Amino acid sequence: MTHPTRRDRPVEGPSPSPAGPAWDVVVVGLGALGSAAAWALARAGARVLGLEQFELGHHRGASHDHARIIRRSYHTPGYVRLADLAYRAWAELEWEAEERLLVTTGGLDLFPAGAAISPDPYRASLEACGVPYQWLDAGQVMRRWPAFRLDADVRGLWQASAGIVPAARGTRLLQRLAARSGATLLERSPVTGVRDLGGSVEVTAAGATFRAGRLLLCTDAWTGDLLAQLGAELPLVVTQEQFSYFHPTDPAAFAPGRFPVWIWMDAPSFYGFPAWPDAALKAAQDVGGRQVTASSRGFDPDPAAADRLAGFLRRHLPAAVGTHVSTTTCLYTLTPDRDFAIGPLPGHDRVLVALGAAHAFKFAPLLGRALADLAVHGGTDVDIGPFALDRPALTTADAPTSYLV
Ligand SMILES: Cc1cc2nc3c(=O)[nH]c(=O)nc-3n(C[C@H](O)[C@H](O)[C@H](O)COP(=O)(O)OP(=O)(O)OC[C@H]3O[C@@H](n4cnc5c(N)ncnc54)[C@H](O)[C@@H]3O)c2cc1C
Repeated sequence: MTHPTRRDRPVEGPSPSPAGPAWDVVVVGLGALGSAAAWALARAGARVLGLEQFELGHHRGASHDHARIIRRSYHTPGYVRLADLAYRAWAELEWEAEERLLVTTGGLDLFPAGAAISPDPYRASLEACGVPYQWLDAGQVMRRWPAFRLDADVRGLWQASAGIVPAARGTRLLQRLAARSGATLLERSPVTGVRDLGGSVEVTAAGATFRAGRLLLCTDAWTGDLLAQLGAELPLVVTQEQFSYFHPTDPAAFAPGRFPVWIWMDAPSFYGFPAWPDAALKAAQDVGGRQVTASSRGFDPDPAAADRLAGFLRRHLPAAVGTHVSTTTCLYTLTPDRDFAIGPLPGHDRVLVALGAAHAFKFAPLLGRALADLAVHGGTDVDIGPFALDRPALTTADAPTSYLV
């Protein structure tokens, strides 16, 4: 599927005739992606209704907690370019909100020899996009950040612009800006019915029915339920993940101005943050949890996963694991290739889907704008073509899975 660019089509105003649906766009799901889209749509002048099944800011999805990594180091030039646009979108959000959001810490991707994730595509993609980085040996890493204990065969990719964006605070802010720009956001409004009527869509939530020109599903782990009503399916896997906070034994070594965000690029893969926003630091395993559904998941941390994380930290960042503060669960919703699924639902031009494959928080303000472009203009100049819902990874039975990015 190709997405027409904005320039391919005349710019259409979002308002239908007075006899048309009451809403231009109904956004289902107000996590980071839905909230960003609601803001961008409202800013574009669309009449937008956002429906969230739980209370805004709830902890059952993927956009809660303090911190998310933002980084340019990615394995394809396409993602590196997208990340560059994402930084601009965060800057624009900061400007609109008159609030600092992004904390630049620098980022360190650590590759042991023979790592499951090869450094080559990361380095090649950064080079192709002219993004500066440093390729460090283990000694250089440990001299610069003495908290790390690394074997001699580990290499570090240092990229100075990586950092932290606030998860719950950022999502809340997007909701606030959406409402300020005229969006109607309804919490505790589970959508139980969606229908494609051809010329419009119909959404049922909490006993009410809404008609709209477009439907945008930003429902992450719950996406399958609503797609089924439209006779559609995506090969999504939901896993129950968890992240932990620790008070480090040496707080100064983990201060945001001193310590980077980091990712261990092997299987298992781990990642972590400086101590931010207060004295505790966050660390987690990436894709380390069991497969669940949004309704079968639990909220109790898995002790075996907690042990794996603590074991890794004791070996490679011993000063990080002073006192354990908390461990919290969350959901990853994964596509087979771990690329996003973004665009019109095949066979349903009025229905758009946005799914972030468990690495999209950093892109949320950018993807919100791209989704608004799609809904209002039918195309976007953000290159979301690789994430089309009819790509082979999403349509071929038994497509190979690769969750490590
Ligand atoms: C622990 C963890 C760490 C992560 N780390 C990073 C990182 O460092 N960097 C990064 O860029 N990304 C990261 N991600 C991924 C990123 O956070 C997610 O991709 C992003 O937050 C997903 O946002 P979302 O809005 O798609 O999903 P969600 O936040 O889950 O929102 C979906 C919403 O839809 C609602 N909904 C579903 N069905 C219905 C319905 N029928 N009616 C009404 N509402 C409905 C849900 O209640 C939910 O609020 C991480 C994710 C997790 C879980």
